[in-house]
Amino acid sequence: MDVVLLDRHNYHLFQPLLYQVATAGLEPEQIAKPLRAILRGQRNVDFRLVDVTGADLAGRRLLTDAGPVPYDFLVLAPGGETNFFGLKSVARHGFGLKDVGDAVAIRNHVLRAFELAMLEPDAERRRALLTLVVVGGGPTGVEMAGALSELIRLVLVKDYPRLNLKDVRILLLEATDRLLGPMPEKLREAAADRLWRKHVEVRFGAAVEEYDGHRVRLKSGEVVPAYTLIWAAGAKATDLGAHAGLRTARQGRIAVEPTLQLPSHPEVYVVGDAAYLEAGGQPLPMMAPAAIQMAETAAANIQHALRGEPLQPFRYRDAGALATIGRNAAVAYIYGIQLTGFVAWVVWLVVHIIQLIGFRNKLFVLLNWMWDYCFYERASRLITKE
Ligand SMILES: Cc1cc2nc3c(=O)[nH]c(=O)nc-3n(C[C@H](O)[C@H](O)[C@H](O)COP(=O)(O)OP(=O)(O)OC[C@H]3O[C@@H](n4cnc5c(N)ncnc54)[C@H](O)[C@@H]3O)c2cc1C
Repeated sequence: MDVVLLDRHNYHLFQPLLYQVATAGLEPEQIAKPLRAILRGQRNVDFRLVDVTGADLAGRRLLTDAGPVPYDFLVLAPGGETNFFGLKSVARHGFGLKDVGDAVAIRNHVLRAFELAMLEPDAERRRALLTLVVVGGGPTGVEMAGALSELIRLVLVKDYPRLNLKDVRILLLEATDRLLGPMPEKLREAAADRLWRKHVEVRFGAAVEEYDGHRVRLKSGEVVPAYTLIWAAGAKATDLGAHAGLRTARQGRIAVEPTLQLPSHPEVYVVGDAAYLEAGGQPLPMMAPAAIQMAETAAANIQHALRGEPLQPFRYRDAGALATIGRNAAVAYIYGIQLTGFVAWVVWLVVHIIQLIGFRNKLFVLLNWMWDYCFYERASRLITKE
């Protein structure tokens, strides 16, 4: 078999730690690795840096900005993107968090907000500059709000001795009545409690309607003056499925058979965030374990197909979920076991170090975390551009 990997980026990105790049804890290079380095040892794999623009399924060709690529089997894994649910003003003025560019933009913006606040004589405008709104109480929103609080209260407070912490406000807005939706109630409450203790204002039933870069307007009519809005409230599949004329389901994900094949084209498989399949009456989560397991099933099914063997349906093995709220604080629900506090935090650290790709990245991230833990630091506080 000859395998051709196509991607518009030349690196693999470990998205679960993007929020740490956004909050000045890690450098992008520490959570990403060049694809050519990862694939170096595999002789039958070729990588091409291209943008896939569509697919000619009848002609078995993928369309790219560098010309068509023919295939016998196709595995589509284009992933997801931020879903602003049609809120154009939020998409224009707020920040999503999906790739390296988003994370660095947030870091620059937050650090610049503090510099602007130091120059601002008007108390009201200064408070707005120091108000950060995170929208969405899932793992990304919870981790982002906790990390922002620690960046400001443990680190920036030392950089800005004239800063009045009373002017700083971090709000976590959640439209429903709970954080970390699928987790057990005890863990959800523990997460909310920890955030409050870190001075994050957690607001339930708070749905954002509009944002002009200076004021967040909620559906209730309340207006919150804020210079920063980070949107962590939704994900959807990239529009590649729609471009290729494929049938899409919820969140724009491409509907697949249990074997992960397209119903009309058995030589095409879709895996990861872009694939829509239900398990136990629920759509599979847009999470890394589901994506990795689907990739394994699709690869095995291609081998079965080549050997003329029956294909296997995809079975999701759900190991659970984790979220950290900062130093010594996390919630973990693993194989039915509920953990909170320091133990959950250690589990979170170990799981994330193990899953990072490349020994160098594991080592540097671990050293970074140890340094930050001991010295209350965040090293990546450069404003590089905006
Ligand atoms: C901020 C954040 C935090 C997360 N935290 C967690 C977590 O803690 N735990 C967890 O399990 N999951 C987490 N996830 C979700 C997890 O990262 C995804 O479920 C997983 O990456 C999906 O894998 P994938 O291969 O389907 O897509 P991706 O990892 O998104 O990969 C898609 C690839 O396709 C490429 N691509 C897309 N379109 C094109 C095109 N047209 N042409 C060329 N290339 C293209 C992209 O460049 C990308 O490299 C998080 C996601 C985000 C954004």
